[in-house]
Amino acid sequence: MPELPEVETIVRGLDGLLAAKVVAEVRVFYPGSFPDDPALTATRLTGAVIRRVDRRGKAILIYLDNSRVLMVHLKMTGQLIYYGQETASRISELLPGRSTRIAIHFIDGSVLYFNDQRKFGWMKLLAEEELTRQPFLQKLGVEPLSGAFTAGHLEKLLNRRKGSSVKAALLDQSIIAGIGNIYADESLFLSGIDPDRRCRDLTSEEVKRLHRAIRRVLRESIKMGGSTRRNYRNAIGQTGDYLTKAWVYGRTGEACRKCGRPIMKKRTAGRGTHYCPGCQS
Ligand SMILES: [Zn+2]
Repeated sequence: MPELPEVETIVRGLDGLLAAKVVAEVRVFYPGSFPDDPALTATRLTGAVIRRVDRRGKAILIYLDNSRVLMVHLKMTGQLIYYGQETASRISELLPGRSTRIAIHFIDGSVLYFNDQRKFGWMKLLAEEELTRQPFLQKLGVEPLSGAFTAGHLEKLLNRRKGSSVKAALLDQSIIAGIGNIYADESLFLSGIDPDRRCRDLTSEEVKRLHRAIRRVLRESIKMGGSTRRNYRNAIGQTGDYLTKAWVYGRTGEACRKCGRPIMKKRTAGRGTHYCPGCQS
């Protein structure tokens, strides 16, 4: 599933490519991708002008000039790929493809494809004022790259989850928005904290290190275009490079980049968890 750096990379790409585009036609290949009312959603999108593209947590928000917002969740395998003159030469796959669910055509001939192999992703068109009332967005925790996310704030958040493991707390979207399995493992490695540690047992110094590590791994991944395991692609169909430089994620049995011991994998918070027994305690 795409996490914050992947969604941020898509959003930055789309914001530059889609601003001022006018929707000419919407082709629906799989109505389930428009869960609210496929025909009405397509009608309301037609003629709209895109103002800007933003995100909240892992939700992508495409703001339109008609006071509506197209909210997109990529879930497991969703992709938003822009096809236009600027990018056509860089896109190798044939579009629309077998996993294309929605195609939004613009009057200049460019197209935004929503591909989703597993079909868990969705697009919902909302009035802008409805956005803040969406239960899905209301439940989201702090944005880890925002000014509101300080070490002191993280300490308070972890205090509310005293008995749970620090890994489970990092994965909880109602505490911090946008961190999933990859960046939880990477942040815990960089802060030297064993993923199984209980939140109540962390010292203030460890929480400070964890706070710095979270921001560092997210920023570094954004710089590298995010992480691609299987389906993730940026707005013009390219993969991200972060996993080639990852500290522990996906490196079971390989040498730790700091101490040389083999990276181990265990199950924490119901997820496969990568860690270095030499660097984390
Ligand atoms: Zn190590």
